[in-house]
Amino acid sequence: MSVRAGIIVTGTEVLTGRIADQNGPWLSHQLLTLGVDVAHLTLCGDRPADLTAQLRFLADQGVDLIITSGGLGPTADDLTVPTIAQFCHRELLLDPELEEHIAGVIRHHRPHTPDLDAGPTRTGIRKQAQIPTGATALPPTGTAPGVVIPAVAGDRPVPTIVILPGPPAELQAMWPNAITAPAVTDVLTRADDLQQETVRAYGLHEAHLAETLRRADAEIADLDRLEITTCLRHGELDMVTRFASADTDIYRRLLDVLTEHHRHQIFSTDGTTIDDQLIELLDGRSIATAESCTGGLIAARLTARPGSSAYVTGGVVAYSNDAKSDLIDVPAETIAAHGAVSEQVAAAMAEGARHRLEADIAVSTTGIAGPTGGTEIKPVGTVCFGVAIDGQPTHTLTRHFPGNREQIRTLTTTAALHLVAAQLKQQ
Ligand code: ATP
Ligand code: MG
Repeated sequence: MSVRAGIIVTGTEVLTGRIADQNGPWLSHQLLTLGVDVAHLTLCGDRPADLTAQLRFLADQGVDLIITSGGLGPTADDLTVPTIAQFCHRELLLDPELEEHIAGVIRHHRPHTPDLDAGPTRTGIRKQAQIPTGATALPPTGTAPGVVIPAVAGDRPVPTIVILPGPPAELQAMWPNAITAPAVTDVLTRADDLQQETVRAYGLHEAHLAETLRRADAEIADLDRLEITTCLRHGELDMVTRFASADTDIYRRLLDVLTEHHRHQIFSTDGTTIDDQLIELLDGRSIATAESCTGGLIAARLTARPGSSAYVTGGVVAYSNDAKSDLIDVPAETIAAHGAVSEQVAAAMAEGARHRLEADIAVSTTGIAGPTGGTEIKPVGTVCFGVAIDGQPTHTLTRHFPGNREQIRTLTTTAALHLVAAQLKQQ
């Protein structure tokens, strides 16, 4: 890969974990789609010396592009632009047009701001309208403009630096202008035509995939031209492969080997998720949920995308025995006879929810998420599932999941989606 980039996310609130970083992963993904290899993603607080140290580090690594996020606001702790200007040995110059533009934005959003023409607000605006000499300002998407500083060759070269605001929506809105700034397109035209493909498997162990990859390495010449990473997520195994377009044939051969060995576990080779596939498999039918141990997590997954009202009728969190009986008609005798965590109750939950919520399909979970409540026969991690489909006998299943409460609930949620998909595929 010919173009390498570094991302610096700034902000003490992100560094201390009060806010989870959204900009680093987003920028990394965008750069990847542009064929740029992200070599480093670093995080620092609002101290100028720390930001300077990271700029120095990335410049010394020889990256072609540095993207920063955060610290462009009007307040005294927002120091990204002056710090980077100093690092690049560039003066800051007030851009009067930009100053008026920012004042106009504030006037529009907060027409009654009292000190817009003088005082602290004007001071803040002037601060944000200071641009390093020779740099390009990117039009603000909030109040802060972005900045692009072109690369400088020499003894200690400085890469092209793109300075973006911290609020994710502002940063993302500014991105199209950032990548079309001339100093950035200069870098991007040197990027490779990179591809990324994702294979997703369920019920496949990492060790087995590693074994298959070793075999593939022996069978396929130049497999090392592909960059393969595997990652376990929510109980699924994702394998992400990056390669230059010229190496597409090598990837195809790898895919053949993988599907030959793991036909039953690989459920996606085109990047689609089980959530995407489930919606396809519903094929216009509606679905409802009856959840005990997952507490609504399945309903949340099913309703995560816009337009889900077209296929989700509703969900019931039936936690107590009374709720199971009152809300979704699980007979108290069934609970008394088999226990709340039983396939009989799971079946009754799915059937009850399907009728009450007037859906074509319903899925249920009842289990022991722990850490307490387990018994010898039904240890923590035991979960019973039910899938009721109109016109078919209700399907049930019991599984045992490892991990803590959060992991058990997550694994149960993923398993429920796979179970419904499998039932619909069988039809
Ligand atoms: P502002 O003008 O709002 O101060 P800014 O460019 O100075 O913008 P920051 O001060 O660094 O940006 O961050 C402002 C807010 O944006 C943060 O309090 C946080 O809510 C959000 N934010 C900043 N960086 C990130 C990030 N990496 N991930 C998620 N949210 C972020
Ligand atoms: Mg700020």
